[in-house]
Amino acid sequence: TDLFQSPDYFQIDDLLSEEHKWIRESVRQWVKKAVSPIIEDCCQRAIFHKDWFPQMGELGCLGPTIPQEYGGAGLDEIAYGLMMQELERGDSAVRSAASVQGSLVMFPIFTYGSEAQKRKYLPALAKGEMIGCFGLTEPDHGSNPAGMTTRLTDQGDYFILNGSKMWISNAPVADIAVVWAKDEQDQIRGVIVERGMEGFSTPETKGKWSLRASATGELVFDQVKIPKENLLPEARGLKAPLSCLSSARYGIAWGAVGVAMDCYDTALRYAKERKQFGKPIAGFQLIQKKLAEMITEITKAQLLNWRLGTLKNAKKATPAQISMAKRNACEIAARIARDARQILGAMGITGEYPVMRHLMNLESVITYEGTHEIHLLITGEDITGINAFV
Ligand code: FAD
Repeated sequence: TDLFQSPDYFQIDDLLSEEHKWIRESVRQWVKKAVSPIIEDCCQRAIFHKDWFPQMGELGCLGPTIPQEYGGAGLDEIAYGLMMQELERGDSAVRSAASVQGSLVMFPIFTYGSEAQKRKYLPALAKGEMIGCFGLTEPDHGSNPAGMTTRLTDQGDYFILNGSKMWISNAPVADIAVVWAKDEQDQIRGVIVERGMEGFSTPETKGKWSLRASATGELVFDQVKIPKENLLPEARGLKAPLSCLSSARYGIAWGAVGVAMDCYDTALRYAKERKQFGKPIAGFQLIQKKLAEMITEITKAQLLNWRLGTLKNAKKATPAQISMAKRNACEIAARIARDARQILGAMGITGEYPVMRHLMNLESVITYEGTHEIHLLITGEDITGINAFV
């Protein structure tokens, strides 16, 4: 059949429940119907498709692990991972939109928010009726967010927020932003900024060659008056935003493997059909080497994700384990996408096939949520006990 089958060389499907497989199938079918037919055009024209939000909400992809009481899907971490895998197989921009909403907006409100904030925002975010973004990175502070200069000052009845954030996914279309800023004691705090607040604007970042179907922008705060009830009461210090990143990075680890699977599947089919020198190019050793290495790396990464998901379910996964999985998944996906592109020859650079689009998207996925270098240093620090960042 034409239906995409997950490459599953080590029968990892046996480790999944019927519900997991059913969830994967429903997201896969949605991607096939709602994303794949238009994604090429969206990317060529740099259009973010806002309608995807309520549809992903219906599928439970926005805040999959948030309890149903707050509108979430109340699923486990493996289900969340499989959803991100299937979304990103469609396009990294779709997975990014869901990751930001679920892990970077709903997760901090759920974890650090007041009961009133949870009731006010979470159900609408879960349905995709409301769109959120997450503002941590600043023009002068990327890998080192502790240096941030966005400032929150207490005015008695309200706060005043000044500063700016850059490279913020969903910013141009967001209704709310979870923003990280330093208070007068230099402590990092989180606030919910709403569109329409005076002095708050979200200029769009244009001209990207990567994640073209994702809306990226700045968050600019010019003396924005923030009501006291918009402060996340339980979030104090950098560990609060970092805990959100741990959740999103876990989804990226699965998503990048989804991209790798799509590139492998595309390259394998092409190689079996395309003939040169009188036989399918899949019959040449140099092509087989690429394909064999692809499936080997995919299988290793699938097992790592599955194991990480079970550790996360048991609340035992460490941030360093998540860093390793995110970094490895991006690394192998980028290599597999590049090799797949070559197997497709000239066809590989066109939009007839998804490979070049994935390859370009991966350049963002490698950099955001902690760069490749930063994740390596996290592993380095974890195994040696010595911080090599500074
Ligand atoms: P820099 O920190 O300036 O790093 C530049 C280079 O130096 C990198 O290679 C880096 O690895 C290296 N480097 C830095 N420090 C060290 C060190 N100690 N040792 C060795 N090498 C080092 N941010 C948000 O807050 N919210 C979002 O929604 C969001 N979405 C994004 C969407 C896209 C499409 C992109 C591209 C970025 C997004 N980001 C977002 C920002 C992203 O998280 C940052 O780009 C990332 O953290 C890196 O920061 P930087 O770009 O300033 O690079």
